[in-house]
Amino acid sequence: MIGALLSAGCTVVLRDPGVSNGCGPLRYSFNTHDITLTPERRAAVDDAIAEFGALVGRSVEPSASGGATAESNRPGDPIAFELAWPEDDPDGLGYAEPHIVGDSYAGGWVMLNPIIRHAPPGLIRRLVLHELGHLHGLADVEDGQELMDPSLVAEMWGPGDLLGLVITHNGGC
Ligand SMILES: [Zn+2]
Repeated sequence: MIGALLSAGCTVVLRDPGVSNGCGPLRYSFNTHDITLTPERRAAVDDAIAEFGALVGRSVEPSASGGATAESNRPGDPIAFELAWPEDDPDGLGYAEPHIVGDSYAGGWVMLNPIIRHAPPGLIRRLVLHELGHLHGLADVEDGQELMDPSLVAEMWGPGDLLGLVITHNGGC
């Protein structure tokens, strides 16, 4: 199965080989830092997280609090989505940093550049999926058929993305 996919020409790179995901609920908070997203763009973020949960077979639970600051995020806390960005990387759109405890992913941060308040909802969806890929064990690849290509041209997960997520979820949830 894996060999067949690889020989079919898909591209997958694991960010932390040997580290994998559990199958518990995906909890997340979203701190917009008082930046207003249109309802369509806000929905694109939430819908992408729900789409990811459905793909990997995990329930998704938005945090009732609506978002804490990055400083307070600890392993096992809800994934902290932050609509905030450093000034030294003006062209970047997103960044993800997982917490790793032992050989398991345990939440982390996703930073989203506030310029996405001007981006098409479809691009926001692909960006959020891409960053969730990082948070769950996938690295960037150079292959436009994969969502883990930073160009974000792929509309759907490619075969390498899917293979990687199966591997990092120990075969699936
Ligand atoms: Zn990336």
